[in-house]
Amino acid sequence: MIIQLSATISPEDKQSIISRVNKLGYKPNEVRTQKRDYIVAIGKKEFDIRILGSMPGITDIHRVSDDYKLVSAKWKVGRTAIDLGDGVFIGDGSLAIMAGPCSIENEMQIEATINHLKENNVRIMRGGVFKPRSSPYAFRGLGIDGLKLWYSLAKKAGIKIVSEVMQVSQIAEMVDYVDIFQVGARNTQNFNLLDELGKVDKPVMIKRGISGTIEELLSSAEYVFSAGNEKLMLCERGIRTYEKASRNTFDINAIPILREKSHLPVLADPSHGIGIRDYVEPIALAAAIAGADGIIYETHQKPEEAFSDGQQTLDFIESTKLISKLTRVQALSGGV
Ligand code: PEP
Ligand code: MN
Repeated sequence: MIIQLSATISPEDKQSIISRVNKLGYKPNEVRTQKRDYIVAIGKKEFDIRILGSMPGITDIHRVSDDYKLVSAKWKVGRTAIDLGDGVFIGDGSLAIMAGPCSIENEMQIEATINHLKENNVRIMRGGVFKPRSSPYAFRGLGIDGLKLWYSLAKKAGIKIVSEVMQVSQIAEMVDYVDIFQVGARNTQNFNLLDELGKVDKPVMIKRGISGTIEELLSSAEYVFSAGNEKLMLCERGIRTYEKASRNTFDINAIPILREKSHLPVLADPSHGIGIRDYVEPIALAAAIAGADGIIYETHQKPEEAFSDGQQTLDFIESTKLISKLTRVQALSGGV
């Protein structure tokens, strides 16, 4: 059960609600986000909801049967849209495009990518400066100095930044230089990281775990929301299956299912989803048709020289082609 509290509720009224919830056999959890205050009450007992609904300080009350509550579509009227500022939105009915290299490598690469994005009216650039790599000997990113350099160039160009945060201590380092914190597939269930991201006033994009279920992804999002941050989005990036013909198996099913289960924007990452450059385009288009609110993919001026994930990275010609196809698909399917 989610109890939405009025912005002006008195501490006494709040306390009375908490006591009443306890008496009903529910466990009350107080949640304060950037937007408002809630009490998330956990329990199963049947009772007449009017007992609570008439108490002062309550603006609305909803029963939510899902284990995740605040990210569930069952209580919120309308979908969540994320405002990145300067007219850049995710989840407002448009198709957001986020493109860039797997790893930020150097100034020339950043500039080339920014120019490519600007030519195609793409407003959000992806790139990792802290890279989770399967091998400790692989390139692990330029770190915070790389992010600062990237930020200075992106800001001048009016481009927003999405970048992965791997551990709690990096949040404070990165917060002034990113527009979206990315939680990578290997960290989807790093609950300490999720809790801390709940305390920042910056959007967070959570990727699905490598072997994670849809329910687990939603529960991870619930961590961030219940810790205070409503500016959240979900990302399907493929899961590990027994199939060896592709790097991961992009779960197209997850797109409509997540959109039905949650009010949060749903993004698709076809690059990691299939892991093969030639097939990124069809998977990206399929995800857009399936209803994704945005596509995040890897592009590089010379994919064969990329420091990481070159095998699944589009060159700028392929990327331009994809953007124009995505725009056409969006025009065809927008609002469907
Ligand atoms: C990435 O976006 O480059 C990345 C490492 O993604 P994932 O966490 O989905 O593997
Ligand atoms: Mn990558």
